[in-house]
Amino acid sequence: MSERHVSIIGAGATGIAAFIALVRHRACKKIVLIDAYEPGVGQVYANQHPEVLCNTSVELMSLLPPEYNDLLHYLQKQRNVNCTSVSFISRKMIGEYIRQRYHDYLNLAHNYGITVDFIKGSGKCIKRQSNGDYQIYTDNGRKVITNDVIVCTGYGNPKILKAFRPYQNSSHFFSSPYPENLMQQHIRPGSDVLIIGTKLSAIDAALVLCRHGCRVKLTSPSGELPAVRSALVYRSIPASLLYKLRVTNFTEHNFIPNIRKCFLQMLADTSETPVKKQFSFASDVIQRLGEEAELARSNQTEWQFVIVGLVEIINNMFLSLPFTYKELLKKEIKKTERYIGAMPLQNAEKLLNYASEGLFSCEKLNHLAVWKTHSGWIINGLQEGESTFETVICAMGYDYPSNIVTKNSFILSEASGSLVPPHRLSSELQLPFTHSSNPEHIWLAGISTHVTVPLVNALFIAVRQVNQIAQTIRQL
Ligand SMILES: Cc1cc2nc3c(=O)[nH]c(=O)nc-3n(C[C@H](O)[C@H](O)[C@H](O)COP(=O)(O)OP(=O)(O)OC[C@H]3O[C@@H](n4cnc5c(N)ncnc54)[C@H](O)[C@@H]3O)c2cc1C
Repeated sequence: MSERHVSIIGAGATGIAAFIALVRHRACKKIVLIDAYEPGVGQVYANQHPEVLCNTSVELMSLLPPEYNDLLHYLQKQRNVNCTSVSFISRKMIGEYIRQRYHDYLNLAHNYGITVDFIKGSGKCIKRQSNGDYQIYTDNGRKVITNDVIVCTGYGNPKILKAFRPYQNSSHFFSSPYPENLMQQHIRPGSDVLIIGTKLSAIDAALVLCRHGCRVKLTSPSGELPAVRSALVYRSIPASLLYKLRVTNFTEHNFIPNIRKCFLQMLADTSETPVKKQFSFASDVIQRLGEEAELARSNQTEWQFVIVGLVEIINNMFLSLPFTYKELLKKEIKKTERYIGAMPLQNAEKLLNYASEGLFSCEKLNHLAVWKTHSGWIINGLQEGESTFETVICAMGYDYPSNIVTKNSFILSEASGSLVPPHRLSSELQLPFTHSSNPEHIWLAGISTHVTVPLVNALFIAVRQVNQIAQTIRQL
């Protein structure tokens, strides 16, 4: 075992996966975890409501690659949960699994003679020392000397629509639907609620509030809901097909980043159901939801089996692309976004039931105008013209953290002065400081790697990253 000291900043799902990977690979002598919250809580799997589901199947949520059945065994043997590797389970259960494995690997670390410290606080700055080590400063005055750092700090603040920014602290307004129990406690059953956003966190909020008896409208500029899937699992894509797609679509000389075409080509080559029969083209959003739910129910959504392969191709391709192409490719990715970020079939079925009861609707938003009244909101920009809502919730996702790099330090979540945000990482996800191309012993993992990995919003991607990082550290 190496004598290295490794610090992990951020102890959510990614940080705990990094901790487990370091212990499993016996990569170091000492591990320090730093977070303002207890290890394994994080932001994403802290949910308590049973309505809030993962949109990735059990098989994709294991913390112990290549043992993709680890979560399934935990659920079936330790929790007596009736599920299979393709099931979608609640994010609450994933949180409990993460904390269980954290404690298991804490014991294992002890048996291996690895020292583990937890420091309660936020990491503020990582500064290189003259001997090549790093000093981490926390917001509560702690300092940690370390050989290597893995940064696993997740997303930044919730995105808030400009029109609502002046009202952030108003009653009847929520800048995020989480924690969902808090949101529910403050919203009157039977009231009218407008949710800004039509993706997964907006759907989480709608399910929680419709169950609570509210009438909920989702809205966004596209007015489009995610597609519906019955599973999201690993399925290998034949190497011959990957090779063909890379050469025909993504050569540097003839660069046409047509992700949609790539997706359809992969599908045509791998599925039994004709490609057109796997999709709904209905223009009405609820009709499309119904048709897509039916396709998923009748196992016709074979596109769901190429999504993980597609995500992997895009992420691998992105690592080696010149910066100018990256922006083009990001635009292309948007065209398949509703399939990559599709919702679980269970959620679609509940939404359809609520829609038939008149509790759920979804529509396009045009030129929003907002007035706050003593009892709620007047909103202009929806189909029926001026509408009133008691509560508005922003569920538009999160900003990326605004970290900054200097010539000898990495500053977490602060944007000021003439410092530059990180825009590059080595292919091993190591950060170079400014004025240097040498990768530091600072690795980014999970959401923070968005600068070079366009599709980071899934645990399996972060888990793979931290396992590679642990193996690299072990060899130092
Ligand atoms: C609403 C939502 C739903 C999602 N659903 C799924 C899903 O179903 N399946 C899936 O695979 N992925 C899902 N994701 C993607 C998710 O981002 C990944 O699963 C990711 O791995 C989450 O874990 P994390 O540790 O990176 O982030 P988080 O859970 O946000 O944890 C980050 C941790 O870092 C800490 N931290 C932040 N800044 C500092 C600092 N300066 N110093 C110290 N600590 C710090 C925070 O306190 C927190 O504990 C979802 C994401 C969101 C936002």
